[in-house]
Amino acid sequence: MKRVVIKVGSAVLTEHNCIAKERMLNLVSLIANLKNSYDVILVTSGAVAAGYSALKLDKSKQIGKKALAAAGQPILMSGYKKKFDIYDIDTAQILLTEDDFDSRKRTKMFQEIIDAHLANDILPIINENDITSTPEQLFGDNDQLSANVAYATNAELLVILSDIDGYYDKNPSEHKDAKLYKTITELPEDVLKDDSTPNNPFATGGIVTKLKAADFLMKRGKKMLLCNGFDLSAAESFLLKGEHTLGTLFTGEK
Ligand code: ADP
Repeated sequence: MKRVVIKVGSAVLTEHNCIAKERMLNLVSLIANLKNSYDVILVTSGAVAAGYSALKLDKSKQIGKKALAAAGQPILMSGYKKKFDIYDIDTAQILLTEDDFDSRKRTKMFQEIIDAHLANDILPIINENDITSTPEQLFGDNDQLSANVAYATNAELLVILSDIDGYYDKNPSEHKDAKLYKTITELPEDVLKDDSTPNNPFATGGIVTKLKAADFLMKRGKKMLLCNGFDLSAAESFLLKGEHTLGTLFTGEK
């Protein structure tokens, strides 16, 4: 079966400093539908926000953030488990750092774990293991982690679900006249160097980390769709009907 990696960001998964349960359920329903046509791998953010619902630490401090992530990861996973149980889907938790893609040996081990899960119809749920890792070992955002996962697992597509309809010619939260790009075939170096622009207190990436993820995949002959995670219809039409309605498709193919 074809493989797809779905990455959901904090902007979609959190609301008022907590996990947005209804949106999580919508995502889980979409994945349950996709499983008839794809092997799905989920990359999820949201551990820090989930932790914040249990204890109020300062997430701008390194230890506070790590302590929140450690408290929040099981809360996040239990949220997913309850919802995937409705569809009788078993899940596995995989926590990774940038180091896991460092050597062929480690990447191969990771690939084999994912292969074993998918062969046994288990949905791998991946997050960055930022709890005991040093900043040098971390991607720092799940956009680039998910691109590495997509490439290492030979997925044909990475779908990034965010709080926007796709990639615009300027920041849509600041410019009302921003225009959405439907397809991008290459990204100039300067846009990959811009500062990060997260839109949510728990988000870390902003658009630049998504563009870096797209660039990484396009250079390796893979595709990425950036689309709305509040309204999943664009992701659904693309994946289930092959129709590109909304969302930006990054593809090396011209
Ligand atoms: P997530 O938690 O889903 O990773 P982020 O908040 O990190 O989301 O990134 C998405 C945000 O990036 C958008 O809500 C938007 O405010 C910002 N952004 C800045 N420039 C652009 C652009 N050119 N196109 C789309 N979004 C942009």
